[in-house]
Amino acid sequence: MKSLYSRLVIACAVLLSVLLTGLGIVLGQFFPLFAEDSDLLLQRQYWFFLILTLAIAFVLSLFIATRMMIQYARPIDDMTKIATQIAHGDYLARVQTSELEYDNDLAKAINKIASNLQEMSTMQAMEKERLKTLIESMGSGLLMFGRGGTVNLLNEVFEKTFGLSKNEVVGKTFKDIGLPIAIENLIEDVFMKEQVRAEQVKIDSSDHQSYMSVYGAPVIGIHGNWLGIVVVIHDITELVRLEEVRKDFVANVSHELRTPVTSIKGFTETLLDGAMDEPVILKEFLEIIQKESDRLHLLIDDLLELSGIEREGFSLTYAAVNVKEMIDDAMRIVSRGMEQKKMRIVAEVPEDLIIEADAGRLIQVMVNLLSNAINYSKEKTTVTVTVTSFMNEVVMTVRDQGIGIEQSELPRLFERFYRVDRARSRDSGGTGLGLAIVKHLVEIHGGRVEVESKLGVGTTFCIHLPILHNK
Ligand code: ADP
Repeated sequence: MKSLYSRLVIACAVLLSVLLTGLGIVLGQFFPLFAEDSDLLLQRQYWFFLILTLAIAFVLSLFIATRMMIQYARPIDDMTKIATQIAHGDYLARVQTSELEYDNDLAKAINKIASNLQEMSTMQAMEKERLKTLIESMGSGLLMFGRGGTVNLLNEVFEKTFGLSKNEVVGKTFKDIGLPIAIENLIEDVFMKEQVRAEQVKIDSSDHQSYMSVYGAPVIGIHGNWLGIVVVIHDITELVRLEEVRKDFVANVSHELRTPVTSIKGFTETLLDGAMDEPVILKEFLEIIQKESDRLHLLIDDLLELSGIEREGFSLTYAAVNVKEMIDDAMRIVSRGMEQKKMRIVAEVPEDLIIEADAGRLIQVMVNLLSNAINYSKEKTTVTVTVTSFMNEVVMTVRDQGIGIEQSELPRLFERFYRVDRARSRDSGGTGLGLAIVKHLVEIHGGRVEVESKLGVGTTFCIHLPILHNK
């Protein structure tokens, strides 16, 4: 810029000096006019001519200088402004090349730099956004410590897991955050040994217990320099709980199977050891063996049933079901047991209530509930079945006047193999899986089961089902 302005000034000076030299020549011509004896009129004419020439020269040089300024200096000024804007991060600024007569290449180069920078910053913003989304949606808690050993990054999952906010954590060392001691130890270990560490930790808080899978690793830059450490924490409480449930289930199944098998084995051995020679004992033992194998059979059937229902891909066969007919079918199935205990069923079911459901599975649900009502009631009592419908829901209730269930037992009632009274359930031929099957079947119908009970008064099971199946 400076050199350009000086070039302009020099150009003006040269022009002026050319004009003044010309003026000198003219002056030389007229010089004798300055003598004392010279003509006064001529002298005046000379001065007028001189001043006029000077004025013309001034206006001319001013005009030329201004033109040159417009052509050279102003576009450069504009480009300087745009370049400054770009330098300050406004990558959308552009030089208007169409307005330029020349210096187009410089303008194009500035525009190219701006568009490259704009592209780079867009890419960078995209990368940053992608990384942020990844960090926030990874489903695990993330914590990063910088080279100085303080936290410089964490995600929302981490905040939620430990109930800490970003402000409370960023800039602090791992000792100051207030993490569970097991996690603190792991982080310390990664800092000290600069090695990857993965561990499952159990965290006891005042109201519950949780399990976390913690992974800590040093962050090494591309040139092998140590940049800090990263810690990924995943809540595996639900996984551990499911694993416990699975272990319990295997233990329960083994136990349930072992009891009848031990019994069958024992009685068979006793018979083979000579007891079979006594016809009375033989009959009695064979009856026990038959009863135990029936129980074994029932248990295996229920287990297969439950695993079938729980298997992925299990589906119901939906059709229009007349609720009254379905309940009549279920009552027919349990009628023998009813008669044996001289019990009575009262059914209050609307005649023409039709719902969309799997009839076979609903009969199974009702049979399980009615069988329980019979098994856990005294003789000559009444079981009441009522069905009501409201809006888009049907409610089926099975109420007995049986032994009832303690309030504290109700939350676990639908668990597999959970029994209030193990001996009684076994005597009545129960497998401990009936209510688990009921719950599953009702839930895959999109419904829910509720239970109310009073010890010594009776129990009521309520099944809520949608009238129409939501596909
Ligand atoms: P079970 O085969 O032992 O009957 P269920 O899963 O059907 O298994 O029921 C679980 C437990 O719930 C039973 O062992 C019993 O203790 C209790 N129970 C179920 N229904 C009733 C009822 N109508 N009255 C009292 N107790 C019941």
